[in-house]
Amino acid sequence: MTRKYKISVLPGDGIGREVIPEAVTVMRTATSSTSGLEIEIHEFECGGEYFLKNEREWSEEAEAFTKNEADAILLGGIGAKDAEGKIVRLPDGNMAGYSVVIGLRQILDLYANIRPVKLYERVPTPLAEKGPKDIDMVIVRENTEGLYIPARGRITGREEGDLAVDLRVITASGAERISRYAFNLAMERGGAPSDGKRRVTCVDKSNLLAGCKLFRESFNKIGESFPDVVKDYAYVDAWTLLAIQKPEYFDVVVAPNEFGDIISDLGGALQGGLGISPSGNIGDQHAMFEPVHGSAPDIAGKNVANPLAAILSVAMMFEWLGTKHNDKSPITAAIKIRLAVEKALGTSNIRTADLCVGEWSKVKPSTTKEVASEVTKGIAE
Ligand code: ATP
Repeated sequence: MTRKYKISVLPGDGIGREVIPEAVTVMRTATSSTSGLEIEIHEFECGGEYFLKNEREWSEEAEAFTKNEADAILLGGIGAKDAEGKIVRLPDGNMAGYSVVIGLRQILDLYANIRPVKLYERVPTPLAEKGPKDIDMVIVRENTEGLYIPARGRITGREEGDLAVDLRVITASGAERISRYAFNLAMERGGAPSDGKRRVTCVDKSNLLAGCKLFRESFNKIGESFPDVVKDYAYVDAWTLLAIQKPEYFDVVVAPNEFGDIISDLGGALQGGLGISPSGNIGDQHAMFEPVHGSAPDIAGKNVANPLAAILSVAMMFEWLGTKHNDKSPITAAIKIRLAVEKALGTSNIRTADLCVGEWSKVKPSTTKEVASEVTKGIAE
């Protein structure tokens, strides 16, 4: 039986408006070349540029559809600048587009931020002695608690600017569910590149912070139900060192929100940069997929942004839909997209400027559209 999936597409600001339309073309091509799969795309404007024109971050229709009807969400980048070059902000000081990108994570309870770190063949990594066989891990970041919950402020009654507080909240239930996600993910993967062992590394600062102690206790409790997965630990500062020295040791890495945020940018660097780093924000019912990069105003409007992060985010989306609905067709589409990306990188020199470094520094950079067309061609073949 063919199932139709409704997708909310939110390109957002800056390069989101360039890479998401290309990712949508790839999505349509993968769908039409896969039997038993149908999609219905609903595209809406949102973010800072929309706010400048409409004094809302998105339309009521966009908000209602995305929250209540969409089977999955694809988001570009959020963050615009006004005519004076200042970031467009809401009256409360948050960046315009905040309720889309951060709000959806909270409202739809997208508690797992998943960032695969995989080095593709013929992509430059800054690690001189490492290659694709060494770099293949997934960072699982808790996405709804930690330091980023909106419990913060300046203390009034003191000299202005003297004292600010950010409250960090960790709950046992939150730490347990993200740990469970990480262990389940390890069971689906083939283990760490170095030794093939299924391993989940808990990255925290439990030698110092109470929240991290609770996070680690919760990790250990959940880990007891996964005897086939090695429980592993690293303090966050040490992890950054180890990830550079021996990335091949890591399989699945789980961390509280703010630590996960920081270490996954390091992961992005290992796999060739933000232009090729996809992500998913996943809950039990809903999920939103987005490139790790933001709106990158410095390169917006030039047709130079790498569309692969957005395209690989579509592959993650199809994989999630297929797993959630026990439907093989979206999984087939995901595999086709990944193979087409591998083929485009592996057999052509068509690559955007961010990947024209090192061995490829003499290659003439391709445009956003040229790279996406190469991927689309690979799916259709
Ligand atoms: P934020 O993440 O807070 O939205 P931002 O929008 O300023 O920040 P990013 O979009 O994360 O920044 O990008 C940081 C830099 O990385 C950009 O200045 C750009 O040079 C580069 N970059 C990001 N995405 C891409 C891409 N898809 N292709 C090529 N370069 C990129």
